[in-house]
Amino acid sequence: MTTNVLFAANDALWQDYRDPLRKALAEVGVDANLSTDIPAPKVDYIVYSPGSDLQDFTPYTRCKAVLNLWAGVENIVTNPTLDMPLARMVDEGLTQGMVEWVTGHVLRHHLGLDTHIMHQDGTWRHDPPPLATDRTVAILGLGQLGQACGEALAGLGFDVAGWSRSPKDIPEITCLHGDDGLKDALEKAEILVLLLPLTDETTDLMNAARLALLPRNAVILNPGRGALIDDDALLAALDLGKPAHATLDTFRTEPLPPEHPFWAHPQVTVTPHIASETRPSSAARVIAENIRRGEADEPFLHLVDRDLGY
Ligand code: NAP
Repeated sequence: MTTNVLFAANDALWQDYRDPLRKALAEVGVDANLSTDIPAPKVDYIVYSPGSDLQDFTPYTRCKAVLNLWAGVENIVTNPTLDMPLARMVDEGLTQGMVEWVTGHVLRHHLGLDTHIMHQDGTWRHDPPPLATDRTVAILGLGQLGQACGEALAGLGFDVAGWSRSPKDIPEITCLHGDDGLKDALEKAEILVLLLPLTDETTDLMNAARLALLPRNAVILNPGRGALIDDDALLAALDLGKPAHATLDTFRTEPLPPEHPFWAHPQVTVTPHIASETRPSSAARVIAENIRRGEADEPFLHLVDRDLGY
């Protein structure tokens, strides 16, 4: 029997995903009608991006799962009309991209690249960086992305600490949890990486009090979500040198408005939410595998816990 898969995302994404998804569905043996236009009561699965016009899931009475194209689900998880399972994106390409972005920006600050690249002024600044083994990087969030970044940085020799909601035991990473664990992570974070999902609990996590726990000259990287940080508190903290620099990839309002003080601040680097992208070829295989599982009555992968919000 044909499985009806509604692609509910914008046209540009449809152009990117149509062929990879058709190929991936065929490869897992699902006979699928993949389309952007299927009557709601006939839809079996919805491939979804939060920018979609589809906001009312009530008419999708036989839909077995909504399969999100992005890792972050904060814009859909609280939708009161969504009562079917929601899966988020876990994609090897997305993970690799994040590891590369985080590693690159950690090394920028660790090696002091700005000092040597931006100031070719005849001054002999003989100020060699410490070895990675003498530099602590703390990562808030030890999920799919945080753990992969932590392992890559530990592989380079960095002293890596990570913080998560539940206790963990990951080789080469000092795993922390709870309020005391967060305090410990922040106090030792020469470079702090935020890779938490945005939930009620994590919104404004980095407030003035927590920013004040960072060592002087610490650096923050935020490829997680903009609202993990209180913007005003960060701007005030930058003036005190704790942190000394913030490299921000995510913002409360995206695109970041031209008048936002982050753009002009000398101690802020803005990157336009490019830390990592879901890659259609690998992401299509993840979606197809979940549809195969649904059709075979096997448990879905990467389900979102609606109570936790991620
Ligand atoms: P994930 O696998 O769900 O991992 C989330 C991690 O955060 C887990 O370790 C979880 O702890 C921890 N966490 C959640 N709530 C917490 C709390 N209240 N206190 C302490 N720890 C908490 O997510 P992921 O795939 O790694 O992605 C993380 C985020 O990255 C996404 O939600 C998205 O916002 C962002 N992202 C950004 C980009 C970009 O281009 N900038 C791209 C992709 C994703 P447990 O392990 O105990 O559950």
